[in-house]
Amino acid sequence: MVQTVEAAVPDTAEFQEQDEEYQSGKIYCANCIHCKVVPAKSDKDDQYVLRTRCAAGKWKKKLGEEKLYKYCTITRRYLDSCNAYEAMGDAREFIRELKKTLPGKDVVYPCFWEQENQE
Ligand code: SF4
Repeated sequence: MVQTVEAAVPDTAEFQEQDEEYQSGKIYCANCIHCKVVPAKSDKDDQYVLRTRCAAGKWKKKLGEEKLYKYCTITRRYLDSCNAYEAMGDAREFIRELKKTLPGKDVVYPCFWEQENQE
C-alpha cells in the first residue's frame, strides 16, 4: 500500500515524541513558519497557558477539531514528512537554542488584561 504525504502528516499519535538529541533528517514543527505560539485559557478564568498550533491546519483530533500542544513540548514534535513544512532556518541550531529557553513544564500566567478590564 502506498502511503500519501497527507496520510503521513501528524495526528496526535503520529508524532515521534522524544526528548533526546536532535534527529537528523526529521522535520521539526518548531522550525516551521506555520508553528505558532498562542495563549489559551487555563482551568482558572484569570490565568492562561501557552499552547502551540499549526496554522496550516495539520494538527487535528480524531473527530477533526484542531489540536493544540503544550508549548513546553514543542521541541519533541517532529515528523518524517509534511507537505506544508516551511523551514525558518537551520533546524539543528534553532532546536538547540530553543531547548535552552523552553520551560521544562507547563507554565500558568496571570491574565493582567482581564484584571485591567474589571477595574
Ligand atoms: S505545517 Fe507541518 S511541519 Fe509545519 S507546523 Fe504544521 S505539521 Fe508541523
